[in-house]
Amino acid sequence: MVNESGPARAGRIATYNDPASTARSRRATCAESDAAAPVSTDTAVDRDSAGGSAIELRGLAHDYSTDSGVVRAIDTVDLDVAPGEFVSIIGPSGCGKTTMLRAVAGLLEPSFGSLSVLGGSPREAQRDHAIGLVTQEPGLMPWLTVAENVRMSLKLAGRPDAVDDWLRRVGLDRFAGLYPRELSGGMKQRAALARALAHAPRLLLMDEPFGALDELSREALRMELLKIWERERSSVLFVTHSIREALLLSDRVVVMSGSPGRILKDLAVPFARPRSDALFVDGEFLALEERIRVLLRTAN
Ligand code: ADP
Ligand code: MG
Repeated sequence: MVNESGPARAGRIATYNDPASTARSRRATCAESDAAAPVSTDTAVDRDSAGGSAIELRGLAHDYSTDSGVVRAIDTVDLDVAPGEFVSIIGPSGCGKTTMLRAVAGLLEPSFGSLSVLGGSPREAQRDHAIGLVTQEPGLMPWLTVAENVRMSLKLAGRPDAVDDWLRRVGLDRFAGLYPRELSGGMKQRAALARALAHAPRLLLMDEPFGALDELSREALRMELLKIWERERSSVLFVTHSIREALLLSDRVVVMSGSPGRILKDLAVPFARPRSDALFVDGEFLALEERIRVLLRTAN
């Protein structure tokens, strides 16, 4: 899989600042600043050697207009994801994780701040088919079989012949001819994962991809993702509610505060790769897990 290299092309970074709502936002930011927890970063990533960021968020904020007024979903989020890095976001429900991911995917224009994805705007990254997106809803084409769903994605990478290979990797080779309605939730999510990964996206965005699965399917799929990622090394932004999952998979875990979401802590995960679930009983792992649990308790 291709790793992004070269400095971010500053001229193509998307900046957002809706002049009509600037004053309102300034008021909101001032009002909320007392409650803002300080951001702290103890990450081991060497930015200089990373050769530009896969994702660069600066002062990102987003307001939704609702019948009962403006809701600030995320506030002044600064975040970098280096090429080939796996970063998890964890935080209370409603703290803006999906909002942030949708902004990075180019599905939502944030109200304020700037955003660079693979050195350009999210739209450009999308146009280049450089982003793979997996959400809690598998989003398969219902009129296509499992194999056809995966083949569609592989065509983008010019490798329509690799369908069998991908189906084998996610354990769906025996179900290639079935339609999404004939699959269990876990099988659908496997197909969605194969589809997202098959075209070798340089950036993989995952929003609670295993959230709807039973524990066993979740474990199996998470190990599969780990194996695939350790080989392919795309950049990943991964939203999860599971602290263990975040620690097992990630190079960094970013903990967010409650609404409006701000980054509370950006933690480096020091364990060597390849990793396995043997980590779950490692003392250092358990200590980090507890540290994040305590942070999340105070996040609201
Ligand atoms: P998370 O993914 O962390 O649970 P979301 O990004 O879905 O959080 O939502 C963050 C906040 O924005 C919540 O308060 C939610 O109610 C609000 N929100 C999300 N989407 C919309 C929308 N389309 N319209 C209005 N408010 C929204
Ligand atoms: Mg969400």
